[in-house]
Amino acid sequence: MKNILSFLFLALCGTVFSQVSENSNAVNFNILPVRGFCIAAPQSKDVDEFVKFIDEELASRGVNTLILRVDYNYQYESHPELRDSTALSKKEVKKLVAVCSRHSINIIPQVNLLGHQSWAGKTTNLLTVYPQFDETPLVKMPEKYVWPNADGLYCKSYCPLHPEVHKIVFDIVDEICDVFEAEAFHAGMDEVFYIGEAQCPRCSGRDKAELFAGEVRLIRDHLAIKGRKLWIWGDRLLDGKTTGLGEWEASYNNTFRAVDMIPKDVIICDWHYERPDQTAVYFAMKGLSVVTCPWRNPGTAVIQAQDMVRFRKSSTPVMTERYLGIVQTIWSGAGQFLDNYYGRKPENSGNSPVACFKALFTEIQNISGD
Ligand SMILES: [Zn+2]
Repeated sequence: MKNILSFLFLALCGTVFSQVSENSNAVNFNILPVRGFCIAAPQSKDVDEFVKFIDEELASRGVNTLILRVDYNYQYESHPELRDSTALSKKEVKKLVAVCSRHSINIIPQVNLLGHQSWAGKTTNLLTVYPQFDETPLVKMPEKYVWPNADGLYCKSYCPLHPEVHKIVFDIVDEICDVFEAEAFHAGMDEVFYIGEAQCPRCSGRDKAELFAGEVRLIRDHLAIKGRKLWIWGDRLLDGKTTGLGEWEASYNNTFRAVDMIPKDVIICDWHYERPDQTAVYFAMKGLSVVTCPWRNPGTAVIQAQDMVRFRKSSTPVMTERYLGIVQTIWSGAGQFLDNYYGRKPENSGNSPVACFKALFTEIQNISGD
């Protein structure tokens, strides 16, 4: 009986899904090839509701790309020592894979590589377990983190020239891509403040742009063996001083010249949260494919969607194909986002990723229906 009920339920769901998808087909979403959503992978307790959110909210809006920031929230078998204390099981991941597959949504798992190896006063798993990979071993984690600080500590980095780091990192990359059945991987690589540091015996004195580009190339080449594409955040490739963009949104430590050194098939996630800076054009003119990424400002996101469509319409065919689309980013955990989305907790004013997400995809639907 239970099986029959399950079958009837699934059949009913199938009808609802196909209606949603038929409605979606009435809109020409192809005007933006990538319509994405980026969020931390859910905790185990939130998986089922997140599946429902994908099913009902992402699919109906035509989202076709889901960047999931997993990091160590997975029960890695290759390196169990790197797992978070609570981490997703393979079964839970497969629930996410199944719902995305049903709606033709590509999942791109992310593990932060190079930078973001600590947060506030805590190192994250890689450097906790393998402190020998630390680019700045002399920088001790503070009891109470404040910014600015004398060490210039934002986040720790791993040393890209350490002879043993990639063996471990690539095991993790391969395993997470395999379990998510992913054709692309997001390596993060944003906000790398520590690179080529004087205290590192391998990197000191080296060109920071070459170090950054070398790491991008190494990861890209590793993924290419299995036909997978590399996605990264774009901020290290923008010149902060010349553009006036901030120290997070762009590079003040000379990594920006790497934009001319990295392989052209790396996909750039060009994030700008407060102003709709038109740096997508810069990346496209450098031969790189690019998506623009808003966060919490609905007005900015709407302009960014309009800009992206305009770039595609007003460029040569060669350039047009590099303007891939737009990705809504969410920087809370999935649980908090779901609480906000379903109205259990209000969003803070002035910080409205839910409102931004809704406004962005309403605008994409409007543009696509023209
Ligand atoms: Zn180093």
